[in-house]
Amino acid sequence: MSFSSLECLIDEKQPVYTLAQALCEAQRCLFCFDPPCVKACPTEIDIPKFISKIASKNIIGAAQSILSANILGHSCAKVCPVEVLCAKACVYHDRGELPIEIGRLQFFATSQAIEKFLAPDLLGAAKARTGKKIALIGAGPASVAAGAMLALNGHQAVIFDKKNFIGGLNSAGIAPYKLKHEEALREIRWLSSLGLEFCLGKEIAEEAHALEQDYDALFMGIGLGEDKRLMISGADGPSVYGACSLIEKIKTQKNFSLGNIKRAHIIGGGNTALDLAQELRLLGVDYVALHYRRDEPDMSGYAHELSAARKLGVHVWLNSEISKIIHEDAELKGFYTQEGQLVESDLLALAIGQSHVVKISKYFSSISYDARGLIQVDPKTHRTLNPKIWAAGDCVNGGKEVVNAVAEAKIAVKSMLAYLAEV
Ligand code: SF4
Repeated sequence: MSFSSLECLIDEKQPVYTLAQALCEAQRCLFCFDPPCVKACPTEIDIPKFISKIASKNIIGAAQSILSANILGHSCAKVCPVEVLCAKACVYHDRGELPIEIGRLQFFATSQAIEKFLAPDLLGAAKARTGKKIALIGAGPASVAAGAMLALNGHQAVIFDKKNFIGGLNSAGIAPYKLKHEEALREIRWLSSLGLEFCLGKEIAEEAHALEQDYDALFMGIGLGEDKRLMISGADGPSVYGACSLIEKIKTQKNFSLGNIKRAHIIGGGNTALDLAQELRLLGVDYVALHYRRDEPDMSGYAHELSAARKLGVHVWLNSEISKIIHEDAELKGFYTQEGQLVESDLLALAIGQSHVVKISKYFSSISYDARGLIQVDPKTHRTLNPKIWAAGDCVNGGKEVVNAVAEAKIAVKSMLAYLAEV
């Protein structure tokens, strides 16, 4: 591996299947008529079809079936919460048996295909160049999926990002025991051979007017903004991190170190809090606790992730709110709870959500926002009020899964292709 950050110390949660394991699992599938697992997949991958191809040892055909429905089917195989999507719907639950391991089969097939074939050879060569140019803002999953689909249709797709690396959430925000930075980059580099271009380290403010003038269409896949901060004393001091910012450092910064941290406390009850808690335990932090301000049923994080966190030894403090963060000699000492209890801590992470999109309407004309600050689109087309601009992913849905970003990008691209055929 060419890249080495802290996350490289964390092992994979689920090793890749061997051929024998994949065949064995694929042969368990009942290849249901009207399969509920397909209905539960936001990108509608034909699950029994790809599993039947694995069962008959047509592994590359299986990968083609997956990627034709979900062009990010390789990373989605690892990052999708299958426990609440396809695998939750599997009919094996009705028999009191374990569901088919759909994600692991999907990862097995796509890994083999990506290793053996270039994207144009596997997905079909891109159509003849149309001469149309599309700018995609943000280099996360929505833009990469949309850009790859547009490139396959012969359009020039240029992805812009203010950061200096590609992948957005996929490369910087996924817990490493699910998907590592380098693995996410490998999928995007593979897709880039379709003709995707990247323009990194660019603030769109500098480019907005020119982009609108020079490109035939635009796509907003800008995700969410910075971690929300707590408006309490000490929240800006040392060793107090926004959770997404800390996850990004662990994944992407070569020299980032946690130092000699023994106790870490995380504020929040969502999936980011649960991911970070598990990550810190896997990195060797002795005591990791989550603080959630309500009861367990109110937590927005998935129950299976909470259970996994507890198995790793994460402590859960319910009905716990903090009132003041204390630093001594420029070091974090701890924090006070609302009840006045001093809790000593070496690291505090705030996983209380991310701000919604920066108001880009001042740069691009005619984009509107809902009351939550999310870009408004026609849900049937994902087109904004500006007829040249489409949007998808977290900046529209407020923060869902990678697979939702891909599903929305598919809708947007279908509408963009119809528009581009006419201009
Ligand atoms: Fe196979 Fe389960 Fe889907 Fe049926 S529901 S097709 S058994 S994965």
